[in-house]
Amino acid sequence: MLQIPRVTEEGRLGPVNSALVPRYGGAPTYALLPRLDEAVAAGHTPEIKVVGVPFDAGVSYRPGARFGAGHVRQSSRLLRPYNPATDTSPFAQAQVVDAGDMAVNPFHLDEAIETIQQDALDLTADGSSLLTLGGDHTIALPLLRAAAARAGGPVALLHFDAHLDTWDTYFGAEYTHGTPFRRAVEEGILDTEAISHVGTRGPLYGKKDLDDDHRLGFGIVTSSDVFRRGVDEVVDALRQRIGDRPLYISVDIDVLDPAHAPGTGTPEAGGLTSRELLEILRGLRGLDLVGADVVEVAPAYDHAEITGIAASHVAYDLITLLAERRAARKAKEDAA
Ligand code: MN
Ligand code: MN
Repeated sequence: MLQIPRVTEEGRLGPVNSALVPRYGGAPTYALLPRLDEAVAAGHTPEIKVVGVPFDAGVSYRPGARFGAGHVRQSSRLLRPYNPATDTSPFAQAQVVDAGDMAVNPFHLDEAIETIQQDALDLTADGSSLLTLGGDHTIALPLLRAAAARAGGPVALLHFDAHLDTWDTYFGAEYTHGTPFRRAVEEGILDTEAISHVGTRGPLYGKKDLDDDHRLGFGIVTSSDVFRRGVDEVVDALRQRIGDRPLYISVDIDVLDPAHAPGTGTPEAGGLTSRELLEILRGLRGLDLVGADVVEVAPAYDHAEITGIAASHVAYDLITLLAERRAARKAKEDAA
């Protein structure tokens, strides 16, 4: 068997060493990180798990997000171990692994939701954090159920998306990629004092969409707010609203302008740049992030991996936040 040399820092098994192995070869795990079973076999304890959900039975327009996780992994080969934006090495701060894909039923949406919820609970049973690659946005509901169960109560939510995703039903269906956050509020798994959309834009069915969304408790930072108020002011407002609550972040890649993320199911003009999104995420350091997802990457509409690269970097900065949070918590526990 071929030996695969890996970067090892702080006793943690990191990415394939791309100074010794060309990064375009070999298995496309996320950021060339070890597989879950590989890390465990080598005696390492997983702390952050990247998991894929190849599922798009909840989409209302272009299908194809079932291929999203694989595409983001392929587009993540160029990621490196040190994050200069935060001056941290996330793969040294926590043992990050690729846990593969969940086996979700493509023909039975309710069963798929059950599977995702159960798999998310199983993957976090050892106390590790989850970074999920979608899949369409339907998957956020079971992921939030699992996150709230692990957090021991409702969680705060930052939802990056061109869309509200708080519609009631579509063609009579309660569970679609346009409804997860209304269902989550109804189920009492979100802390409605601290839930916000960021990056919304585009035409709606009517003003009632916004009224309903407001009634559910959501705050809105529109895409033009980010442009007009700027990243720092937006970050301050979001941090104030979240406070020290356990926080889940859900990123629909269509929050980015189609120029930055063409490969998605329901694109809308006038979106965030990838730079703006990454800068907002970097402004969230120190918050109690408990889990995150990046969804709605549909590679059939992508070009030159533009969307895949954006999504892989968004995931990288989310992992940076998760790793730093875990390291800070551990340092506090060790000191106590
Ligand atoms: Mn969307
Ligand atoms: Mn969405």
